[in-house]
Amino acid sequence: MTAGIELRNVTKRFGSVIAVDDVSLDIRDNELFALLGPSGCGKTTLLRTLAGFEVPDAGQVIVGGQDVTDWRPRRRPLNMMFQSYALFPHMTVERNVAYGLEMEKLPRDEIRARVAEVLDSAQLGRFADRKPDQLSGGQRQRVALARALVKRPRVLLLDEPLSALDKKLREEMQLELKRLQHEVGITFLVVTHDQEEALVMADRIAVLRDGRLAQVGPPQDLYEHPDSHFVASFIGVMNFLDGLAVPGGVEVPGAGLLKGNCDFTGPASLAVRPERITLADDPPGDEQNSVPGTISELAYHGTDLSVHVEVLGGSARLAARIPVAQVSLTHFEPGQAVHCCWAPEHSRILKPETN
Ligand code: ATP
Repeated sequence: MTAGIELRNVTKRFGSVIAVDDVSLDIRDNELFALLGPSGCGKTTLLRTLAGFEVPDAGQVIVGGQDVTDWRPRRRPLNMMFQSYALFPHMTVERNVAYGLEMEKLPRDEIRARVAEVLDSAQLGRFADRKPDQLSGGQRQRVALARALVKRPRVLLLDEPLSALDKKLREEMQLELKRLQHEVGITFLVVTHDQEEALVMADRIAVLRDGRLAQVGPPQDLYEHPDSHFVASFIGVMNFLDGLAVPGGVEVPGAGLLKGNCDFTGPASLAVRPERITLADDPPGDEQNSVPGTISELAYHGTDLSVHVEVLGGSARLAARIPVAQVSLTHFEPGQAVHCCWAPEHSRILKPETN
């Protein structure tokens, strides 16, 4: 049987707040799926509805082809790892992981074998006899994961699993989670408000806004082809120039026609990623878009250089991100006149942000 999850028109209200608003979503078997969105957009509520801790006001939750909307949490083939997981401080790692299986009164040999297997996958074998306070933050996190995995849920729901870790450890654990998910072959549904984390880890991402789905797709699709101003600005860094969409591009006051693919007319924002912009001393040929401006700021990031350029008489700014390996660091300086150039295929033309 598959462990796919289907949400059909799920709505959840708290009084007058619509926390989840008519969400339909298919999560495939063995997928690492991320629910991403700003604080308060309904991520946790959606996860809790799936787990059975919230009853939806409308819609259905289907797991592995079975309608589980009315099932109690314990009956569902899901396991949830909460934001604030607590390990038992007086128990060893091994006992912490075994605890859930002991509660199920499984035979001792089976418990021992399953715990050993899971500790091995989580690379915790050599810490089996330690207590939680003898572990690092990342190791404790792995114990919490092992404890959830040992129960062999078909789906593991993770609410901000890495939020307590510092940046470096977080980045390590993102890859670790991905590796572990691959190895155990369980569907993981991860809630995060961190777009970078979702991009790094997920096979697919659903972006939520005010309880509604804004866009669903693989990381690269969302990054390269956001279909709204909201998704474009929420994922990664994006430059926007406002104007009027016409056939073939956007007329931007002060910059003329900036080319790009566009399927509507009227008010529009042209979006272009910083890494798609190159800076030239002279205007490029007609095949490129170009906007003249003046460098206002430089920021060195080690691997690349951010160059901020004031354009349109100072009423807008474009950021370019240039690999350090491609330029000499002394080539650019504040006050310098440059042309920001990009190919029309890297323009993304979107309806303006609506609030
Ligand atoms: P965060 O990233 O801050 O955890 P979130 O995206 O997980 O946010 P939710 O916790 O799902 O968002 O909340 C969605 C909306 O529902 C918010 O407006 C929140 O205030 C409201 N809400 C959530 N739980 C309850 C509740 N038990 N009673 C009333 N309102 C609630």
